[in-house]
Amino acid sequence: MKQLSIMVDLDRCIGCKTCIVACRNHHGLIDHEYDMPGEIPYYLRVESKSEGKFPEIKEDSWVVMCQHCKKTPCAKGCEEGAITKDVQTGIVLFDREKCTGCGECVEKCPYKVIQFNEKENYAHKCNLCYDRVTHGLDPVCVETCLTNALTFGEKEILLMQADAAGKQVIKKLSAQSIVYVKTP
Ligand code: SF4
Ligand code: SF4
Repeated sequence: MKQLSIMVDLDRCIGCKTCIVACRNHHGLIDHEYDMPGEIPYYLRVESKSEGKFPEIKEDSWVVMCQHCKKTPCAKGCEEGAITKDVQTGIVLFDREKCTGCGECVEKCPYKVIQFNEKENYAHKCNLCYDRVTHGLDPVCVETCLTNALTFGEKEILLMQADAAGKQVIKKLSAQSIVYVKTP
């Protein structure tokens, strides 16, 4: 199966969250009437880790989105068959029409990336901008990243690009289909 992926370069990510804002706008995640700060759904989140002591502090930042898992624990938890891994792209897709809002997938996702719309009772998450990538465009987060920390493409090709650039894959973060890299 072909696996489309995003490569996240920790050398470049500055944790600015521009990608999160662009993603929220593109997918219409903000309910302008009701959402309070801190309660807006998100398809990406930023994580970071600091090392060293002042003034020699080094901080790494990276984004976490749906990892488009190989064995999809979310789909295994969904009795309605609302979650599928697309064979053409490897993207894990949610079908809103089939979702009954039981929330089982939210419990099953080890990466805690599934959002839940309480008002309309359905689960939703990053679909790697399926609408865009099937028309030859990059996902919105990749297009808007200020520092070019994100690269979109076939996973195997991204791995080759990382290798050619002398980057090391961070195996612990890259357990599924999204690739995280850094200069050793
Ligand atoms: S990260 Fe969570 S939502 Fe995404 S495919 Fe894996 S289990 Fe499913
Ligand atoms: S826009 Fe780029 S630099 Fe900013 S948080 Fe997202 S990935 Fe990191």
